Amino acid sequence: MAAGEPLARHTTLRIGGPADFFVEPETETALRALLSLCREYGVDVHFLGQGSNVLVPDEGVRGVVLTTRRLFNRCTFAGTEVTVGSGYALGRLVQLSLERGLGGLEPLAGIPGTVGGAVFMNAGTAAGTIGDRLVWARLLDLAGEESLLSREEMGFGYRTSRLQQEPGRLVAEVRLRLEEAPQVSADLLRAAAARRRRTQPLSYPNAGSIFRNPPGDYAGRLIEAVGAKGLAVGGAQISPLHANFIVNTGGATAADVLELMRIARGLVRERFGLTLVPEIRLFGAPAGTLERRLDEGGGETGGTLPD
Ligand SMILES: Cc1cc2nc3c(=O)[nH]c(=O)nc-3n(C[C@H](O)[C@H](O)[C@H](O)COP(=O)(O)OP(=O)(O)OC[C@H]3O[C@@H](n4cnc5c(N)ncnc54)[C@H](O)[C@@H]3O)c2cc1C
Repeated sequence: MAAGEPLARHTTLRIGGPADFFVEPETETALRALLSLCREYGVDVHFLGQGSNVLVPDEGVRGVVLTTRRLFNRCTFAGTEVTVGSGYALGRLVQLSLERGLGGLEPLAGIPGTVGGAVFMNAGTAAGTIGDRLVWARLLDLAGEESLLSREEMGFGYRTSRLQQEPGRLVAEVRLRLEEAPQVSADLLRAAAARRRRTQPLSYPNAGSIFRNPPGDYAGRLIEAVGAKGLAVGGAQISPLHANFIVNTGGATAADVLELMRIARGLVRERFGLTLVPEIRLFGAPAGTLERRLDEGGGETGGTLPD
């Protein structure tokens, strides 16, 4: 357990103030004891995966930030099914499956993060999501009660799951159903990585897509169309390569990112009458807080465009 741990160390954007306590339990007994203590003393608990889809506020997060990367980190194949812990790296799972001649997870190739984060977000691409493959998810609530939810019960949708509406439940492990696919090779992973390197600003810290794509369109296209591509506030910039990515070019704060999001969203709303919905999560804040923060503030458009 670390007190005052800077969360910037644990997010792919490299932004975020301290957590009161940062805990990586190594046994389920320790995890349950921690949850029980937090409940007894009324301490908030927040779950973090690899931090690849979150914006952590500059003021940090009160209470306990918990990661399962040391605890639920096993992966067991049986026939065409795999049972995998929430702390397991998604990329490693995709690779191992392909090595075993099992297909179904190819749409997830190149997506960073843990299995738990992927299930919470229903991570994927237009070709498919992790939810498509889920048989069940074992969850633990803050009282230490366990439940097993089927795919239907998980309420998966575009970059969402039931867990987003009903927070306070930790994904412990999941079972996924794959399929025999001996012809799928590691070339596929190389091609996916090359495609991402070409189209995404991977040389800068980022958190993937900032906004969800609206039906029938792309958030990146809309942000580019309003001239916000390349716009910078402090150390944050709307990527000149992909307008739905915000990159940390050095020393960016969460406030810089929020301001850029507010500007881009405001311009798109003004021009297209459409309100972009954030894909990234404001870590440690109740659902809806990010949208409210983006709706606040003046209507002016700050930021600077590169020459
Ligand atoms: C370069 C880049 C490219 C990306 N491309 C894609 C893409 O193509 N498709 C896509 O869908 N996403 C993409 N993402 C976003 C991100 O990688 C995924 O959403 C990923 O699944 C998040 O996993 P994580 O472990 O990092 O979760 P985190 O960012 O740590 O957490 C995300 C949310 O999940 C919750 N959470 C995490 N673990 C658990 C758990 N065990 N139990 C309960 N809740 C939990 C957190 O509280 C948080 O609200 C990309 C990100 C980057 C940086």
